[in-house]
Amino acid sequence: MPESPTISAVLSFEEARRAVAEQAAKIAKPPIESAELLSAAGRVLAEPVLADRDLPPFPRSTRDGYAVQSSDLSRVPAMLDVIGEIRAGEAPDKIPSHIGSHHTASIMTGAPVPDGADAVVMVEYTSSHGNQVQVSRSVAPGENIVPRGAEAQNGSLLIERGVRLNDAAIALAASVGKSQLQVYKRPRVAVLTTGDEIVDIECTPGPTQIRNSNTYSLAVQIQRAGGEPVLLPIAPDEPRKLRSLIEQGLQSDLLLITGGVSMGRYDLVEQVLSELHAEFFFTGAKIQPGRPAVFGKCGAGAPACEKVATYFFGLPGNPVSTMVTFELFARPVLEALAGMHPSKLKFVYAKLKSEIRVKPGLKRFLPAILSGEFESSEVELVPWQGSGDIAATARANCYIVIPPDREQIPAGEFVAILPRTV
Ligand code: AMP
Ligand code: MG
Repeated sequence: MPESPTISAVLSFEEARRAVAEQAAKIAKPPIESAELLSAAGRVLAEPVLADRDLPPFPRSTRDGYAVQSSDLSRVPAMLDVIGEIRAGEAPDKIPSHIGSHHTASIMTGAPVPDGADAVVMVEYTSSHGNQVQVSRSVAPGENIVPRGAEAQNGSLLIERGVRLNDAAIALAASVGKSQLQVYKRPRVAVLTTGDEIVDIECTPGPTQIRNSNTYSLAVQIQRAGGEPVLLPIAPDEPRKLRSLIEQGLQSDLLLITGGVSMGRYDLVEQVLSELHAEFFFTGAKIQPGRPAVFGKCGAGAPACEKVATYFFGLPGNPVSTMVTFELFARPVLEALAGMHPSKLKFVYAKLKSEIRVKPGLKRFLPAILSGEFESSEVELVPWQGSGDIAATARANCYIVIPPDREQIPAGEFVAILPRTV
């Protein structure tokens, strides 16, 4: 008699997300390694990055123009004596020590503004006359100058631990001279696809066989979320072989299983995990696609193994269900294992192009196309044959989110959409 899961719980979408967040918060930080600045892009920072001096290190002119005392320009036009020129990177001993009243120095963008001057007037509002310049516009105190230390003070925190390093963060680290960064090691995420009908992509499928695509969509999603995919062989719908591959997958930091979690006679994943004394946090979520998704934790199998219990997800085998449930549930756990603060789901709103009618009761994430730009953007569902339709989903660039209490949404209404990450 197969053992049944310790808890059989079909949760609402929000409850399931909370269950995931609760577990993600318990995950310890991963080990640390060093990375060259450029290869740290996309990695998770494991050390605080501090300002190594004031930023900017001097009062910086943001324009090409003339450094002035703004009070000299309370009445314009005004004639000022030009006492020097300050280029970006000018040696300190070549910079006028002081700009007095009715004096000025021409100055370039990125050059240090000398003492005495409290504004820079743009070159466009001046005309040069030998050693003098005529200024036709007044300026407010501070105009076109970024004061020393206004962006960051020496020693202050610029990037905190746990941040995924994007282009701006890499630029900031470069600006404080970090050619190496401490980053967290990527978690290893085992991918186990199940099903007697599933064959490797190198094989020619028989008439009723299906090529394995879920392993590949998951591998891409894992990499994008900061993990390292570990691809296991395809598991048949046979308990012993499935159990041995699940035990192998539990040696990784996270195990993602696809298929075998529905109600069919050969959907054996929950049964096998129960035999391994798994703890289940949910065994379904009221969503479409992806209703049978399973989340739990399980010891690593081999009794000699010291490894703490491994989180696992049983994701429904339909390819679109696998993709959607990864984003909704597996991603936060993977991000926590990668040392990140798990990111929130980011929804944007767009105008619906054509009416939607659905049965109420499930929160739906349906493949859709967002088109147009700015005020003319609109979104519509992609016609599809259900959650096995990878071709329709590949044409989509987002998912429309339909709340469980809506049966009809008229064209013209603003709907929430979950953008597809590229
Ligand atoms: P299951 O969740 O095992 O009931 O599978 C649901 C549907 O997804 C079936 O039509 C399977 O053939 C299909 N499927 C399962 N695993 C994969 C896979 N790795 N690649 C493509 N399709 C799959
Ligand atoms: Mg199956």
